[in-house]
Amino acid sequence: MGNLASIKCPKCAAPVTFDADSKFVKCTYCDSQVFIDKSGAGFYYAAPFMVDETNAVGMFRRWAAGSTKAKDLDRLAQIAGVQKKYFPVYMFKRDVNGKEAVILQPAGSTTLPGLHSLKVPATDLKVFDASFDVGGAEMIKPDIEMAAYADKLPGTPKEQALVFFPIWKLEYVFNQKRYEVIIDASAGELFSADFPTRSSMAYMAVAGLGFVAFIAEGLVATMSLPVGLVLMGVTVVGVFMAALHVARRM
Ligand SMILES: [Zn+2]
Repeated sequence: MGNLASIKCPKCAAPVTFDADSKFVKCTYCDSQVFIDKSGAGFYYAAPFMVDETNAVGMFRRWAAGSTKAKDLDRLAQIAGVQKKYFPVYMFKRDVNGKEAVILQPAGSTTLPGLHSLKVPATDLKVFDASFDVGGAEMIKPDIEMAAYADKLPGTPKEQALVFFPIWKLEYVFNQKRYEVIIDASAGELFSADFPTRSSMAYMAVAGLGFVAFIAEGLVATMSLPVGLVLMGVTVVGVFMAALHVARRM
């Protein structure tokens, strides 16, 4: 058992008693979620979903049609899953040389793309209390301490909060490989770490055709060596020309 401590609820000013070891408590008077940090108590906020599921899939298709993506990725990518989530981010307001700076840092450890470069939502943040409707989104739990960042930030603290960012995690399959994109559903931005690119696809196609041709010609060579060798020679030149074409055009 830790020590009991007490703070004022930042919303209704009621006293909230909590175990000093805990970081997250609920005000028993107004049901607000409050997090406790060594610098004091703060709210949870949440940004609303500005991008719904249909629009998220539409954003993905438009992105997939881009010129750097594998040919026809927008048509051929099979969507394997669309997940609605809230990702926790610390929002620090600091006074840096007399100017207010807002710094965002992830509060949950993640390898998902984009979550280290989220932008402050343009929409109003809502206090995340019992009345906030998460709309079926999965809440990702914060597992990084605020102090881990606060000690390294410039300037002096003015305010800090934990903000749940609405995100869509979209998984898709292309050529038997699974990929994922993250859509920031407040700013409408798409993030992707790894995606099938046009040139690698074309090179793979050339290499694959060359390989098939060599196997066929190997069979021919077992029946007639000269014919097989001539065909292989033609294939080598063909693969070389095709690779050159891919390098120049695709
Ligand atoms: Zn309260």
